[in-house]
Amino acid sequence: MENCIFCKIIKGEIPSKKIYEDTDVFAFHDIHPAAPVHFMLVPKLHITSLGEVEEKHRDLLGKIMLLVPRLAKEQGCTDGFRTVINTGHVGGQDVYHLHTHVIGGGTERLPGMIPNPN
Ligand code: 5GP
Ligand code: ZN
Repeated sequence: MENCIFCKIIKGEIPSKKIYEDTDVFAFHDIHPAAPVHFMLVPKLHITSLGEVEEKHRDLLGKIMLLVPRLAKEQGCTDGFRTVINTGHVGGQDVYHLHTHVIGGGTERLPGMIPNPN
């Protein structure tokens, strides 16, 4: 899709630190890492957000979810990681090409995102 940053990264028109690529999926380090390990897994197919996925994307989404733990471990998340998919305005999505953040590394527990009512 024209003018999509992540489509341009996938095509190599914008440089990125790639960690994985196959026919369907591309993974690269986030330019502003929130933790020692912070990368994103994106489908090569331009899907705007998780809010727009359809039945036909089932295998692609499954493939991405199976890659998450494999790449997380390869990148050094030895004691867990967080997976985030921001969706739409309320979900805090900034780039409208579906992407799964994988955040971890280090030994500190990541700060909670949802306030604890207690
Ligand atoms: P969102 O807020 O949409 O869930 O996440 C977008 C992410 O993309 C942000 O964490 C941001 O740092 C990252 N990002 C934005 N532009 C670029 C870029 O040009 N290169 C890389 N590697 N990451 C980017
Ligand atoms: Zn795109």
